[in-house]
Amino acid sequence: MVAQDGLSMHFESSTVKRRNHGRNKNGRGHVKPVRCSNCSRCVPKDKAIKRYTVRPMVELAAVRDITEALVYKEYTLPKFYIKIHYCISCAVHAHIVRVRSRVGRRSRAPPPRFRFKDGKKVAPAQAAKPLNSAMNPFRLVADLMHLASIFILLLKMQKTRSVAGISFKTQALYATVFLTRYTDLFTNFQSIYNTTMKVFFIATSLYIVYLMKFKFKATNDPRLDTFKVQYVLGGAAALSLVANYAFTVQEVLWTFSIYLEALAILPQLFMLTKTGEAEVITTHYLFALGTYRGLYLINWIYRYWTEYYVDWIVWIAGAVQTGLYCDFFYIYFTKVLKGAKFELPQ
Ligand SMILES: [Zn+2]
Repeated sequence: MVAQDGLSMHFESSTVKRRNHGRNKNGRGHVKPVRCSNCSRCVPKDKAIKRYTVRPMVELAAVRDITEALVYKEYTLPKFYIKIHYCISCAVHAHIVRVRSRVGRRSRAPPPRFRFKDGKKVAPAQAAKPLNSAMNPFRLVADLMHLASIFILLLKMQKTRSVAGISFKTQALYATVFLTRYTDLFTNFQSIYNTTMKVFFIATSLYIVYLMKFKFKATNDPRLDTFKVQYVLGGAAALSLVANYAFTVQEVLWTFSIYLEALAILPQLFMLTKTGEAEVITTHYLFALGTYRGLYLINWIYRYWTEYYVDWIVWIAGAVQTGLYCDFFYIYFTKVLKGAKFELPQ
């Protein structure tokens, strides 16, 4: 196959993704590069994702306090006027721009610029933001479920002073998931909420591993926890090297964490079939953990319809992850919620 350009060289079956290669060169022979504000990569100025931000010099929470304390009422606080250039990798990673769906990609219409909304002027950066992705109800409930699952697990350990029935291997896998997913903790700041969640997930997963390995070690029975994790780890690692969005360390680690998360529950489910029964609080934990990804499935469908959001890696992994819980959900609904003991049919 004769490659016509750099892009189609790697994908023999597909043509080039964008007719203009994602650039806006308009016949100019060469365009001077700029440096990515995040990673300093050289990127042609016309290709770089440019954002002009105007931020108050002090943090938003303090603006009001300072304004109230001012002697000169007409004084306005100075602002930062910063032009930010992103390389494509950084812009995609930070969700400044997104991959469009296969259908949406064909549209050559310029992105909508809602500069006016309800008669009020809206900053283009603000207007370009997806209207409802961050705070749609499914995602909010899903995140709450995830938080709830962790709190239920900690509560169980604290109350029973025991980790019986909990798979150490699953918890260790979750710690690995969060450590590999949030490698951008110090380099990519999006919001206080975002960073807090990242720190929370890493800290609690490590704390749970610590509790199981040291504090409540006596109640942990490794003989029941016999799932061969090397297959899961190896499978997720191999798959992340083959099927990823970009072959960079951070992106491969992120993909690995997505695949690993889908399978991380296997040792726990395996243990459950081995013991044949579980404490009620443990089943609540598993239910919250399973529902969290299930709700994300709904969130993705919703976002697909509202903003052409497509992310196959996360979708397939999420569907597998939720699918693994099917048996558990069935028993949970038919037995635990009716007050019966959680037991597997022998
Ligand atoms: Zn960059």
